[in-house]
Amino acid sequence: MAAQTVATPADPGTTDSATAESATANPGSVDLGPAAALSCRECGHRVPLGPVFACEECFGPLEIAYDFSAYDTEELRRRIESGPANIWRYAPLLPVPADVADKPNLNPGWTKLVQADNLARELGVTGGLYVKDDSGNPTHSFKDRVVAQALEAARAFGFTTLSCSSTGNLAGAVGAAAARAGFRSCVFIPHDLEQGKVVMAAVYGGDLVGIEGNYDDVNRFCSELIGDPAGEGWGFVNVNLRPYYAEGSKTLAYEICEQLGWRLPDQIVVPIASGSQLTKIDKGLQELIELGLVEDRPYKIFGAQARGCSPVSTAFKDGHDVVRPQKPDTIAKSLAIGNPADGPYVLDIARRTGGAVEDVDDAEIVDAIRLLARTEGIFAETAGGVTVGVTRKLIESGLLDPAKTTVVLNTGDGLKTLDAVAGTGLTATIRPSLDSFHEAGLA
Ligand SMILES: *Cc1c(COP(=O)(O)O)cnc(C)c1O
Ligand SMILES: [Zn+2]
Repeated sequence: MAAQTVATPADPGTTDSATAESATANPGSVDLGPAAALSCRECGHRVPLGPVFACEECFGPLEIAYDFSAYDTEELRRRIESGPANIWRYAPLLPVPADVADKPNLNPGWTKLVQADNLARELGVTGGLYVKDDSGNPTHSFKDRVVAQALEAARAFGFTTLSCSSTGNLAGAVGAAAARAGFRSCVFIPHDLEQGKVVMAAVYGGDLVGIEGNYDDVNRFCSELIGDPAGEGWGFVNVNLRPYYAEGSKTLAYEICEQLGWRLPDQIVVPIASGSQLTKIDKGLQELIELGLVEDRPYKIFGAQARGCSPVSTAFKDGHDVVRPQKPDTIAKSLAIGNPADGPYVLDIARRTGGAVEDVDDAEIVDAIRLLARTEGIFAETAGGVTVGVTRKLIESGLLDPAKTTVVLNTGDGLKTLDAVAGTGLTATIRPSLDSFHEAGLA
């Protein structure tokens, strides 16, 4: 590891005392751009950047603390706008070195923000409806964003194997990123995942291990492996690299606002698995406000779950602060985390912003997948069915205001969850003749 002493913003502009502070907060050795230290979300205890994820004082989750003090708003905006058409345009706001775009990685992000007028008409939305379509990422889910951050952290900490516990999409994202960056990969999934996800994870050539159990069992196993000599040199993107990984979700917030012309949406509907994505979208929006890149005005964040794995929406509706674990049983396997680590923070954010957490059952998920495909030509995986279905429900119940600008996330690709719409197929089978065509009523 290089013996650098200061983790300053990539382009510090003017130097000041806060820069010096970050140097003391991070006396060590890694260059992760503006990331200054790890800070406990519960008690604020700070530790130097490293492959740790839990506070030594209170076991709270650690997250990245930045030093953005040197940035000039207009200069930062220009720099972002002239950056590459991927997440690295936001490198000054991420825990990555300034030259990250030159390193071998999958360059995810800058996915389409689709103005969904047809869907808006069906749902009665008049204030502008957009689908942020993250199926356009390199491995066809939002997970490429988070893995790209974890990969940089793995490089910085000298890891040689990339690993994770996964509900499916993460496995593919890790396999692909490792292949491109020249890392070994070994990823762990529940043994009964959708075939599409298994193939997509395996094709990149790394080790793919099915665990007899559900995601929460897989996660527990990975925690054990990290503490074992067998796991030495392994970066588990969503365990010991979790603080870095999680920051990747901020790029969804950045992109949505920039694509809206540096404007906050009024309402965002976000799927919840562990809840990490939702909490970091909120963090990203807060940062844009603090940096002066968007106007400071209220926004609401809504969480979306599948009924068959709805620990957070259950707690929200019951008015509880604690999230009681559930045993998942839903077709939305990418969201099937029964014991979501960031559940309590999701509840805080939904309540603080005036949003809500809602759930839809499997039939409603399938309906919503078809609705989005039929209205906008977007084939979403089950997670997209969850957000679109929940959006419809929130409009019906009056919690989501149809007169306000609304962004709905589609975080994955329908080709990975074909079983969900298995009944979909041919309109008719005919002989190759005009008679037969007419008989079938197709004219
Ligand atoms: C992982 C995942 C999410 C969000 O997961 P969090 O753990 O809540 O960050 C959303 N959609 C899809 C398709 C995913 O794979
Ligand atoms: Zn703490």
